[in-house]
Amino acid sequence: MIAILKPGTTQAQMQHLVAWLKHMNLDVHISEGSEVTVLGLVGDTSRVDMELLKSLDMVETVKRVSEPYKQANRKFHPKDTIVEAGPARIGGGYFSMIAGPCSVESEEQIIAVAQAVKAAGATILRGGAFKPRTSPYAFQGMKGQGIELLLKAKEATGLPIVTEIMNISTLDLFADVDIIQVGARNMQNFDLLKELGKTKKPILLKRGLANTLQELLMSAEYIMSEGNDQIILCERGIRTFETATRNTLDLSAVPVLHNLTHLPVVVDPSHATGKAELVAPMACAAVASGADGIMVEVHNNPACALCDGAQSITPPQFDELAHKVKRIREVMV
Ligand code: PEP
Ligand code: MN
Repeated sequence: MIAILKPGTTQAQMQHLVAWLKHMNLDVHISEGSEVTVLGLVGDTSRVDMELLKSLDMVETVKRVSEPYKQANRKFHPKDTIVEAGPARIGGGYFSMIAGPCSVESEEQIIAVAQAVKAAGATILRGGAFKPRTSPYAFQGMKGQGIELLLKAKEATGLPIVTEIMNISTLDLFADVDIIQVGARNMQNFDLLKELGKTKKPILLKRGLANTLQELLMSAEYIMSEGNDQIILCERGIRTFETATRNTLDLSAVPVLHNLTHLPVVVDPSHATGKAELVAPMACAAVASGADGIMVEVHNNPACALCDGAQSITPPQFDELAHKVKRIREVMV
């Protein structure tokens, strides 16, 4: 349930109302905008007398929110959330180009790619250190050493970094990481989500291979319910019967999510398509659909990549894509 307060409500009046609601065993989330203040009531609202609440002088309207996600819900928090990671901003009109290799492979590789994508306009560097691979025999990532190399690339370029966590026991290694990624395979690892909710780090939450948008928002809610509201949602393709692409990019997720939630939404056309030649067209389509950013795998030598070479584009291809993205963004505003 949400209660929208009338403009001019004083802090004292609001606190009085909040205390009364809390007395009914409800959690109250206060969202103060420049125009309106919205109170989100979380818990068993069945016993709240809506008519009584509506009749109070300071209350403009009261609505029942049927969606099970409350804190991620745009009804409760109408203003776009802007996630901040170092100098980068995502959401609320800020667009981010996240680029880098699937995996960190060496110091030379990550620094060369970081410098190249930065020159092309990337705002955040990606690179996997802990890799969730289908086969236990495949390259599993450089782990802690990979994070150290990412930090070197961050130092060399000034780009904030995003990298995936697979197990909460490694959290200490992420102390200087700007954005922690939760990969598709861990979208419903609820214990991991809850622990990340206790941190102050921005989280890039990828949609699971076979998860609905409501399930994605419930996973965001797990993080938010522990106090962390710095979340970027990522559409990265879902499993369908189609085999021509690695996954099927569900671009309608972008406007649907923008309607349902205030959290920023980025699109990963690399994992969605699995093919380098499809990355630019789908990245452009993602921008046109209103995404707050794109995340693209870039490798300086895709043929020799230790992971996902087939879907990796080269730095010159990324540069060309960045020009197209800029032009599409110009017609989007
Ligand atoms: C990745 O971004 O490196 C990755 C493994 O992606 P996903 O979790 O979407 O498969
Ligand atoms: Mn990859």
